[in-house]
Amino acid sequence: MKIIFGFVIFYCISLFCTKGENSNSTQQTNRFDIMRDKMVEQQIQSRGVKDKRVLDALRKIPRHKFVPKYLESQAYSDDPLPIGAGQTISQPYIVAYMTEQLELQGNERVLEIGTGSGYQAAVLAELCDSVYSVEIIPELSMNAQKVLDEMGYDNVHLKIGDGFRGWAEKAPFDAIIVTAAPTEIPDALVAQLKVGGRMIIPVGDFFQELYLVIKTEKGIEKHRKLPVRFVPMRGESETDE
Ligand code: SAH
Repeated sequence: MKIIFGFVIFYCISLFCTKGENSNSTQQTNRFDIMRDKMVEQQIQSRGVKDKRVLDALRKIPRHKFVPKYLESQAYSDDPLPIGAGQTISQPYIVAYMTEQLELQGNERVLEIGTGSGYQAAVLAELCDSVYSVEIIPELSMNAQKVLDEMGYDNVHLKIGDGFRGWAEKAPFDAIIVTAAPTEIPDALVAQLKVGGRMIIPVGDFFQELYLVIKTEKGIEKHRKLPVRFVPMRGESETDE
């Protein structure tokens, strides 16, 4: 009898504890949901990003899962944040702005250079058919793969390599997004873009400008968009030029 009674008490206590844990994590999730809605409204819509699909993707994706644990509470702030190996996850507004410039409809194949945390790749994954993302630092690519797998993104393909060369085996792409800054637009990336395709890319050294590049039958059109500050694009091919 004593044993049964003890068991019942133990069961009730464990039930109570589990309930407590669940409600804590639910509260946490709700807190992040609220922060995300605010981020989209106050940092992104207020600065003029309008594409509803882009805004919905940013409202949906748990950005806090893509930053180191100690920075989780700052994941929705109006800043880039360190992600290790001296690299950063871009400011949410810049992610939204660059993504909107690609004008994705849903059936595109998109190349990203600079996987970093994997956050931009997740945003793209919500908006197009498939994402191919190249990262030069193996540790970052492997981390990003883990997070993207946990979140169930099976339309994102990662590769460790030098983005100056693009991803020739998977070309051509409908759109390209470059999230590290080269000093000139890499020829290989232009070659791997379809005619009619759009590429958004920061270009420069200390002073950088964001360019929208549209590939036409005759060559490329370059539209200067915004002054920006990205980590430099580095790699072997840089020195080949
Ligand atoms: N898009 C990322 C942010 C990337 S920061 C995100 O959403 O988190 C820029 C990234 O570009 C860094 O991870 C850096 O390692 C990578 N990078 C720099 N030079 C590169 C190159 N030549 N090829 C591929 N990746 C490069």
